[in-house]
Amino acid sequence: RLISSKEVIEKEDKYAAHNYHPIPAVLSKGKGVFVWDVEGKRYFDYLSGYSANNFGHCHPKILEALEKQSKILHHTSRAFFNDVLGEYSEKVTKLFGYDKLLPMNTGVEADDTACKLARKWGYKKKNIPKNQAKLIFCSENFWGRSLAAVSASTDPDSFEGYGPFMPGFSCVPYNDLKALETALCDPLVCGFMVEPIQGEAGIKVPDEGYLKGIRELCTKYNVLWIADEIQTGLGRTGKRLAVDYEDVKPDILVLGKALGGGVYPVSAALADDSVMLVIEPGTHGSTFGGNPLGCRVAIASLDVLEKEGISENAYKMGEIMRKELSSRINKKVVCEIRGKGLLNAIVMNRNYAEAWDVCLQLKEKGLLAKPTHDDIIRFAPPLIINEQELSESLEIIVNTINSI
Ligand code: PLP
Repeated sequence: RLISSKEVIEKEDKYAAHNYHPIPAVLSKGKGVFVWDVEGKRYFDYLSGYSANNFGHCHPKILEALEKQSKILHHTSRAFFNDVLGEYSEKVTKLFGYDKLLPMNTGVEADDTACKLARKWGYKKKNIPKNQAKLIFCSENFWGRSLAAVSASTDPDSFEGYGPFMPGFSCVPYNDLKALETALCDPLVCGFMVEPIQGEAGIKVPDEGYLKGIRELCTKYNVLWIADEIQTGLGRTGKRLAVDYEDVKPDILVLGKALGGGVYPVSAALADDSVMLVIEPGTHGSTFGGNPLGCRVAIASLDVLEKEGISENAYKMGEIMRKELSSRINKKVVCEIRGKGLLNAIVMNRNYAEAWDVCLQLKEKGLLAKPTHDDIIRFAPPLIINEQELSESLEIIVNTINSI
């Protein structure tokens, strides 16, 4: 007997913690840009597992790497060497132009690693007095759910009830270079961490020149610039990295999500030797970080990114998406359409509809998207989407919105 969506939801509700509020689609299969529920209904995946599935569901080359390596050697810990980590690190560092990579698993761990790197660099290289280093973040940042990450958060949903919080963290408004300069001129500041486009905040795209301005200010005040490209990186915004739009190089680059192709959790912090080597043996690590299985999956994911024109396709499809939505969607119901590449959002006019209700209607019509906050819906399909699939899925969105 096949299990029903209702039964699955009831079981999860009973036995799994209630820390999410999912759209009631119970998925059991995925291929390319599509997922299917347990009843066999097909949906366009317009979330891509929060931008982890950039290369689509079940990409054969990534699965092949997973399967092959899983039968040879999956995990060793870094108490020993494994024969893949060096090859993987060489590939990633050469691709992004850094001396070294520090391997972790989830996004929040890699961001935490970047913060630790910045603090240690602050003490060793900037001569900040012991335990006084400050890290600057932006309002509405999102970098995960650990105590450090929620300590940096300005969203009460993230931090309320989890105090006391990490000292030495503060926020400046996003997209505000003046406020940033005021913060960075404090000689105790070691690092500034920012998303080139704020994802969870609702796809907030900064003004052109913001990233260049950050680079200049961080250099001027001898502060490390940490770019959190966990959501924006690896083709999502229509370039390999979102910072490539302004041709700037952060001091620490953080990658996650799509680095493991959505198949396996793989994240990394990248930096040059002057920064990375402040961390010495035994002072930071992770049981699973750098395991051969994750490394092989990441090598395959990066091969797909480079060889299959993923960023170029995301750029092209993103242009079409925003143009089509802008020209066809009812402007009374949707007040804004924004984004870059295939990291996009629409902002609903709440006098007409709630984002949650629209997502339920989209689900009924065969498209899965998730609200971020009460009024914003993110549109982030896998980057392999073709023109035919894009056109079919946009039809669903336009019809749904225009019939409100
Ligand atoms: N950084 C950014 C920009 C993110 O969007 C996210 C997750 O959404 C994270 C960090 C945290 O990643 P993870 O959930 O893998 O810990």
